Amino acid sequence: MTKSVDEVRADIPFLRTGIIYLDNAATTPTPEPVIEAMLSYYHEFSANVGRGLHRATRRATEEFEAAREKVARVIGAKPSEIIFTKNTTEAINIVARGLDLKKGDKVITSLFEHHSNLLPWQRLEKERGVRLEVVGSSKECLLDPVEFEVAMDKNTRLITTHHVSNAIGSIQPVEEIGKLARDHEVLYLVDAAQSVGHMPVDVRRIGCDFLAAPGHKGLLGPQGTGFLYAREDKIFELEPLLTGGGIVEDVELHGAKLVDPPQLFDAGTPNIPGIIGLGKACEYVMDIGIDKIAEREKKLTERMLVIGKYSQVEVYGPMNLNRRGGVVSFNISGLGPHEVASMLDELAKIAIRSGHHCAQPTFRHLKINGTARASVHYFNLETEVEKFVELVGQIAREMGTL
Ligand code: PMP
Repeated sequence: MTKSVDEVRADIPFLRTGIIYLDNAATTPTPEPVIEAMLSYYHEFSANVGRGLHRATRRATEEFEAAREKVARVIGAKPSEIIFTKNTTEAINIVARGLDLKKGDKVITSLFEHHSNLLPWQRLEKERGVRLEVVGSSKECLLDPVEFEVAMDKNTRLITTHHVSNAIGSIQPVEEIGKLARDHEVLYLVDAAQSVGHMPVDVRRIGCDFLAAPGHKGLLGPQGTGFLYAREDKIFELEPLLTGGGIVEDVELHGAKLVDPPQLFDAGTPNIPGIIGLGKACEYVMDIGIDKIAEREKKLTERMLVIGKYSQVEVYGPMNLNRRGGVVSFNISGLGPHEVASMLDELAKIAIRSGHHCAQPTFRHLKINGTARASVHYFNLETEVEKFVELVGQIAREMGTL
């Protein structure tokens, strides 16, 4: 039984403020059942996890571990392959810092990454002498697996790419890149910040070793949550970012026996209510149906792309809807992206993002400073998208007559 758009909208208190929220690529609003799951933790079993024996700590631990199962189900993984994080960025950093990458090892990434999938590798370049190669050349910011193949040498240890571009929406051929990586016995990390929850994502189909994702975007989970999938035979190769309490079996003054992953990555008190909320959010999007979400976002995106018909408007990225997620990045000639975003906010409480979207190399490649960016989720209405298109048209026409 799927949830209708009206039901989902009724579940999201933030939408009652009258905002037309088209900034879902940044973060998404939280539905009431997710908020209630977090409240129930505070009201009924507000204790720590993995420690002690009393009933509240047992319940908290059960719910926390149940969230691992729910996250795993969304991406076709096993619970033992899920590491909780505070966001996508932390998940990527765990791979970058946690793998034994050494001087001379090569990492290949793309020109179109979010800064969160570039800076962690730049740090390895500086600190460990890892060689970083960056590939990508297409105007639509689509990745070509051949470019990765050409860049590979015998010292290549890891390829990392995003799945869907937050900057201009391109959907990348992650399954093909995954196959290439497997054929060459190279590790593959996917930054799925813009795909998980928005479209079906299956780690076995992609054939990746690691996948980093947020709880707070497509999954409609709470801010401050995310996760890393690490394939069961690779999770043991990762060193956790943190060590300390909560992950030990036995401690001497000069050594400790630690627990196995994934709990090995839970040092200190984790974001217990957030992770319980994330578990509920996974159930929530699965109740809607991730196929349904993808289908609806595609329709809404098609309607948003109509802004490209105005001669003063330039839309970036692929026009083929099978190669574009629910992100439309554009500019109106004569106006900066921030001006466009402010005008839409003033005129009709339309919330979009403006700027370089943490992807400066992408915009340098396109020879622009940034864009205005509208991004949808299942709960957005056709009428909201029409309003957006109408106002972009109005602003563009006014610019044309100046
Ligand atoms: N990668 C991509 C493609 C993103 O869109 C984002 C968020 N805009 C990130 C990484 C970083 O995500 P987070 O804020 O969850 O760390």
